[in-house]
Amino acid sequence: MMLPTIPTPEELLDKGFRRGKKAADLKRGEKIPKHLKGKRIEETRVITACQVIKDKLKMILDRTPEIEELPDFYQDYIDITVGVDDFKQSLGALNWAYGIITQLEKEYGAKIRKLSSERATGLRKQAYGRISSVVNKIEKDLDFLDFAKQNLRNMPTVDFEATSIVIAGFPNVGKSTLLTHITDAEPQVANYPFTTKGIQIGHFEKKWKHFQIIDTPGLLDRPIGDMNDIELNAMVALEHLADAILFIFDSSETCGYPLENQYKLLEEIKNIFDAPIIYLFNKMDIAEYDGIRHDYIQEYIDRTEDPLLISAAEGEGIEEIIKLIMKVEKREKSSDDEDEYEEDENYF
Ligand code: GDP
Repeated sequence: MMLPTIPTPEELLDKGFRRGKKAADLKRGEKIPKHLKGKRIEETRVITACQVIKDKLKMILDRTPEIEELPDFYQDYIDITVGVDDFKQSLGALNWAYGIITQLEKEYGAKIRKLSSERATGLRKQAYGRISSVVNKIEKDLDFLDFAKQNLRNMPTVDFEATSIVIAGFPNVGKSTLLTHITDAEPQVANYPFTTKGIQIGHFEKKWKHFQIIDTPGLLDRPIGDMNDIELNAMVALEHLADAILFIFDSSETCGYPLENQYKLLEEIKNIFDAPIIYLFNKMDIAEYDGIRHDYIQEYIDRTEDPLLISAAEGEGIEEIIKLIMKVEKREKSSDDEDEYEEDENYF
């Protein structure tokens, strides 16, 4: 997400006061009756400074997307990464500053016009003092918005029209091998909170339907019992996104996790995700020898609903996976969410 550049209070004031001075200098050259000239110059300084600062604040407010209007996944993402409440509060503070500076502009403009030129400089100084104090009051909000800008810069670009399939399974079971086999191009890699390797998104299109396959190394590949609240939230964000889960077992157990543990991970994922699950038993090329499959593997295959036996490395079974993915329907978004956000309307 591209957020506008955020100035510091000093930068904002500096720009406003500098432009105020420039505009006033132009006034000095104009033919104005002497007793009015001092007033005009100071009025111009105040009004220009207010306008410049207000324009910048308005530009920030206009170019920042309304969080409530973003898809659930992004709202979750922003909440996990920087905090939605803090975000709204900071924008609220900028809005507040905008309002106060509008008032100061009117108040001091009128005062300077009414009083004599001798008092104009004093009034302008007073106005600048009050403007500075307002802008300095939003320092922590500007700071926060800059922090948000840096942290949301590499937010994943998700296609919300596409059907989304989220891959799960322990490390080294073959998730990224499979992702590159199913999707067209190199997957897009973006930041994802609390995973060191980020999120990988690959796309493919078939029969005019668009699918995106999402892999989240470090998140859907370890026991959920070990996760902290924030990681669980990151998980819930994925739940909002997933139309189906591709759960991958390493039948050969060469990933280092026994099938029993892999099955436990599956059970945990089932508890969190409502989405339908497609079950894949990968690395069948080394899990069988001469067509003979170990009994222990068969036991897990028998426990699983409609399993597909594949070898991602050899491209074995990819067509069947794509056929199953083609059957996945986009999940309806619950309308509860919308009601929830309406209550927030008066937030600013
Ligand atoms: P991820 O950590 O789940 O993304 O797993 P990777 O896709 O990186 O695969 C881990 C290792 O397993 C790599 O060395 C792959 O080459 C290997 N691998 C993946 N799929 C298969 C397969 O079907 N058969 C065999 N023999 N090896 C595989």
